[in-house]
Formats: sequence, C-alpha cells, structure tokens
Amino acid sequence: MLKIAYSDVFRYSVPEKHRFPMQKYILIPERLLSEGTISQDNFFAPACLSEEEVLTTHTAKYWYQLKTQTLPRKAARAIGFEMTPQLVERGRYIAHATYECALYAQQYGVAMNVAGGTHHSFADHGEGFCVFNDVCIASNLLLNRGQAKKILIVDLDVHQGNGNASIMRDEPRVFVFSMHGAKNYPFRKQVSDLDIELENDAGDDEYLEILKDTLPRLISEVAPDMIFYQSAVDVLATDKLGKLGLTQAGCKARDEYVLEQAKAASIPVAIVMGGGYSEDIEDVVEAHCNTFRVAQQLYFGEIAG
Ligand SMILES: [Zn+2]
Repeated sequence: MLKIAYSDVFRYSVPEKHRFPMQKYILIPERLLSEGTISQDNFFAPACLSEEEVLTTHTAKYWYQLKTQTLPRKAARAIGFEMTPQLVERGRYIAHATYECALYAQQYGVAMNVAGGTHHSFADHGEGFCVFNDVCIASNLLLNRGQAKKILIVDLDVHQGNGNASIMRDEPRVFVFSMHGAKNYPFRKQVSDLDIELENDAGDDEYLEILKDTLPRLISEVAPDMIFYQSAVDVLATDKLGKLGLTQAGCKARDEYVLEQAKAASIPVAIVMGGGYSEDIEDVVEAHCNTFRVAQQLYFGEIAG
C-alpha cells in the first residue's frame, strides 16, 4: 500500500504572517482522508534520527550547535524559522521519515513523506527553511547500510537544491538532478550533477518537454536503484516565491510523468514534498494532494489502502 510518513511534530508553530504555510501539514492529510484517496492505515509514524545518523551527513560542529542551541544568530536567521529545540527535533523526524520512505518504496514501489525535501541544508549550516538535509541523510544511510548502490535525486522544486549539490559533490553514487528557476533563490547556485535552469514564466509545455527529454536519459545513464523525487509545488504560476508558470494540470502531469518513468523502470521512488507558497493555500494543498492521488492511482489503483 501507499505508505505515508506523518507526525504531529512536522507542524511547527510559526507567527501568523510567516510565509511558510505550516497549515498544509494538516490540510493535506485531511483532504486525502476525507475524499477517500487514502485511509488512516496508509500513515506511519516515523522514528527520530539518531545522533550517529545526523553525523553521516552533517558536521559535528553544526550538530553540536543545534543540539545545544548555540547556533550563532546569523546562522539561525538564515534558516528562517525561530530556532528552538522543537525545530531541531522536527528536522530529525522529517529526515528519518524520508529514510523510512525509501525502505517502504523498496517494498511497495513508492512511498511519501508529508514533509521533507529540505534541500537547502548544507553539511555545516542550514538555510531556506531547512535544518537537516533529509534526502542526503537518507541517501547516506542507504549507501552505508548496503540498502542502495546508486541513487538519483530528481529535484523539481523551483529553487535549486544547493545543499544536495554541495553535500553530494564528491559522492559518485548519488546523482543530483535539479531543474529550477534561473532567477530564483539561491542566487549563488551550487553545481549539481545536472542543473537545468528555466527562465521566468516557463509554462507547462516547455517544462514538460524538457523533463521528457531529460529524465528517461538520466534513468538509463545513471541506472539508479533508488530515486528521491522532490515534488515541490512552488513551480505553480500562483507561487509567491517561484517565478515559473505551471498550471495545476501541468504540475500534476509532471508528477505523473516522473512516477510513470520510475515505475516503468521498476525503480523505487521516495517522494518528499519541498516547497509551495501560493497566495491561496488551496492551490498549495490541491497541488500537493495531486501528487498523492497520482501515486495512489498509478501504483495501487483508486481504492484506498
Ligand atoms: Zn522551493
């Protein structure tokens, strides 16, 4: 069945005017349940990442600063959320959830994290709403434990996965593909294994054409035994931070295409959410829900469970 990682700690309390739409962590599961796409049985509660697991990816200094709440003020501000022990705990659960999703994906073909995709986190610092780098941690755990040999990260967030690129720069077993807005944050970009930059307002046709031109080739050349898919919805035209021009239908077609490719090649895919900052939270929720609907339908048929 479609295994979905969810924990109440994903939802972090932020000031009312904060641009990160925390309510999505409640609204998405609620909607999927109420419409019958999934049932409670689909959810699993992730475990917390251990200190040893954090250190597979992050520096001892950064971890110490987080653990002891002694991160310098400027470094804390770059993360964009108030730095508290709860924020650190939240990040640990999210990262472990992504790892557990990868293991479930090996069993069921696909699994999803209601959070995750914290791709702006570097080994020694966090930024852009990202404390720990969940996909890099999960990748390192899989590789270290002999649970994967070659990993492809398909990062379709509108923002470049600068943390992924930096952390995995010298790791030949992880191929980082990022397709993002050229004019979007981060303004000083890192070098991924493959970066595709799109101009402002790039729409469905252009986006999907490039994706269809790229992904099959990558799957065949990289030959991964695990895919992490960052299915962010900040590619929507309605997004306040993203500068691309996708419609809801285009965003859904993107998800369908990625999952169809992974399924056809029999490569497990763990999906992490990434960003979404449309003015109307309804646009964010609907687009994220589409990813779950597509996964449920493509892999398990329409019936819940
Ligand atoms: Zn983003």
